[in-house]
Amino acid sequence: MIRIVRPRLPTELEASLLALTQEMADTPVPKRDKHTERMWKRESVRRDVYRPVREALEDMAPGIDCCMYCGNHMADTVDHFVPKSHCALRTFHWPNLLLACSTCNTRFKGDKHRGDGLVGSLLIDPTREDPFEHLDLGLASGVYRPVEGSPKGEWTIEVCGLNKGKRPRVRAEAWLNLADDLRGWAQARAAGDVRNMRRKIYRMRTQPFADVCYAALHKAVSEEASRIFAAEEPGVLDLLRDDELRATFQM
Ligand SMILES: [Zn+2]
Repeated sequence: MIRIVRPRLPTELEASLLALTQEMADTPVPKRDKHTERMWKRESVRRDVYRPVREALEDMAPGIDCCMYCGNHMADTVDHFVPKSHCALRTFHWPNLLLACSTCNTRFKGDKHRGDGLVGSLLIDPTREDPFEHLDLGLASGVYRPVEGSPKGEWTIEVCGLNKGKRPRVRAEAWLNLADDLRGWAQARAAGDVRNMRRKIYRMRTQPFADVCYAALHKAVSEEASRIFAAEEPGVLDLLRDDELRATFQM
């Protein structure tokens, strides 16, 4: 999971979302849930609202349309952070909409929702908070663990199935590829080969599970960095700390 900045929408799209939210608010409460489902599937809403919202989310997402929960690329569904069934009024609320892969959205998360006891959700919202405060990703294992038993970390791992199936294995593979690309980038720089440097950066930014790249950059400047990277090949940690490299990731 990666921290994501949410921009404002174009005025016209923002107005369309507000009008739909108003229509929802004007619907009597007992009829609201059914009406929400009908509105969400309405042809004009799919065309004029759903599609441009999805495009705005794709622009926000890291890599090639990375899922805002698991980090895998080519996510193609608009997810309701707080599910429609729990709060119909947030169905067309821009801050409640995230880009998700269908595995996270449909197979794992679905309608599950757990509050944090206050007014928020136990699920980490990467557009509002830094996921690394709650989640730790083992680079070599590809497995997520909650930071110091963080309830938000625990629930996010569970509800999004972050460690399910082959996800850890693919993340571990992504880490090996990333280390190779880092070395390739350094070699290209030493040779003054700017084109190849750009190509390596592009590969690092767009490989599946972009969360691995951001986790590595995050860990490289943590107090535990020398212990975390002790088993890695020499030079990897220095490269992750390289100012020129970090600047390309806006770290
Ligand atoms: Zn996902």
